[in-house]
Amino acid sequence: MHGMMMSQPLSIIEILRYASDAHPGAGLVSVRTEGDIHRETYAKAYRRAGQLAHALKKLGVGRGDRVATIAWNGYRHFEIYYGVSGMGAICHTINPRLSAEQMLYIIGHAGDQVLCVDLTFVPLIEALGEHLPKALKLVVLTDRAHMPDSKLDLLCYEDLLEPESTSYDWPVLDEQTAAALCYTSGTTGNPKGALYSHRSTVLHAMVVAITLNKSLMEGANVLPVVPLFHVNAWGLPYAAPLAGASLVMPGPKLDGASLFDLMEAEHVTSAWGVPTVWLGLRAEIETRGAPPKGFQQVMVGGSAAPRSMIEGFEKAGIDVCHAWGMTEMSPVGTHGQLSAPMKDLAWDEQMRLKSFQGRRLFGVDLKIVDETGKPLAHDGRAMGELYVRGNTIVSGYFDNPEASAKAIDADGWFGTGDVATIDEHGFLSIQDRAKDLIKSGGEWISSIDLENIVMGSPRVAACAVIAIAHPKWGERPLLVVVPKGDERPTLDELHELLLASVAKWQLPDALEFVEELPLTATGKVSKMTLRKQFEGYRLPDAG
Ligand code: ADP
Repeated sequence: MHGMMMSQPLSIIEILRYASDAHPGAGLVSVRTEGDIHRETYAKAYRRAGQLAHALKKLGVGRGDRVATIAWNGYRHFEIYYGVSGMGAICHTINPRLSAEQMLYIIGHAGDQVLCVDLTFVPLIEALGEHLPKALKLVVLTDRAHMPDSKLDLLCYEDLLEPESTSYDWPVLDEQTAAALCYTSGTTGNPKGALYSHRSTVLHAMVVAITLNKSLMEGANVLPVVPLFHVNAWGLPYAAPLAGASLVMPGPKLDGASLFDLMEAEHVTSAWGVPTVWLGLRAEIETRGAPPKGFQQVMVGGSAAPRSMIEGFEKAGIDVCHAWGMTEMSPVGTHGQLSAPMKDLAWDEQMRLKSFQGRRLFGVDLKIVDETGKPLAHDGRAMGELYVRGNTIVSGYFDNPEASAKAIDADGWFGTGDVATIDEHGFLSIQDRAKDLIKSGGEWISSIDLENIVMGSPRVAACAVIAIAHPKWGERPLLVVVPKGDERPTLDELHELLLASVAKWQLPDALEFVEELPLTATGKVSKMTLRKQFEGYRLPDAG
């Protein structure tokens, strides 16, 4: 027997319509590429999303068509998220840090009809020039006064919107309709597209808003440093308006000092981003002697947050919440907020738990398996490959049957490529990406573990541990360090630091210094590039 309740399809534009009705005071503060600060309420963004939908329709965009963006975090990018999905088209966000080759590949693979770019990225598309599809329409996210001279045929965003009506008759879409597309950065092979639906996006927004409610509440000012151009800015453009929180969009300036000034001026209550960004902000807080006024919480994810960083913020009175996820998971899968009883634990134990990736979100199932696919115990010790299942997780990749077939196991779970433990409280601890683990004499060494501890040294600015081939052990760890200050750390002193937490056989065999670590397009250390850099490296006792 079915229940007797109305059923309305979950729809992305409904989030903004709701925010515009229910949270009239909330909205967006954006640092614009034009150089000034811009403010608009969610109600205004809703109206402008309507104008955009009319304009795109005139450009020939219809249901299922792809409208791409290469843009920073700002109100126009936000309007595109809603206007495009709302009219039944697909918002395809492109990461500007991808190589030209990868960018052209995904523009072609996605079959984009329109590409909207920030002023900053006009030179980038000019460089792509004649390699861009001939029919691709190019829109610059600015007003007439700031339109650049260009050899390309460029349309002006504000000119497109200006004549249009603010009311749009949004179509009622099947909730499974595709709404947004984001490609993984593809460290190996071509990038693969995660194609989100209205249903998956709205469910993700609701769960994120409920679970991360300490950050996302009415009246909060949330700073997404995590980009709208990758992994949907962790769902913030959807979850914040749903919760009634305002978004403070930082634009292109993401250094510690610029973020600090913006946070203080705009009373930012929580900030979301990857650990490298927070290292910059923490250094700025140390220089200025106090955190920005009213700043309460750092959400950190994308790669593991070192414990020293977590402790640094916590000592300054700022709550740190770790989150884990991936492009294929919309993206948030777990969060590290401590449960009520955990808040009574000793400070040290709380910090240990905070360096874990934490508990699952509602609707996300986790399992760890051994090499034969057998599920392993959630006892905090058994380590295996992590699989996930749920309504916000991809069932395959866009127009890529080969990659889709490999992604999902026989029972319908998605293989994350991460290796993890899960403890009896359900706390997930990511040990490594499977391909970054160091396999030494039949045992595994977690590069993340070693890196997190080494980051606690005052003489280390950044570090990475990679596997080096070894004739006896198969692989052994090499520690690569970017030194901080005048005096370089020694291997002995770092061993001593490590020995407080890891076994002797896990200690790195050698230490090398570099000026900087290579980064991926999503700002993570590129272990692949680093391994190439140290190809053929000989460890001291390698014979
Ligand atoms: P890419 O880095 O290729 O763009 P994603 O942004 O989707 O891909 O990154 C997903 C991966 O990032 C995860 O599989 C995991 O290895 C890593 N990751 C994300 N969050 C965390 C975290 N909090 N701690 C450790 N690793 C993380």
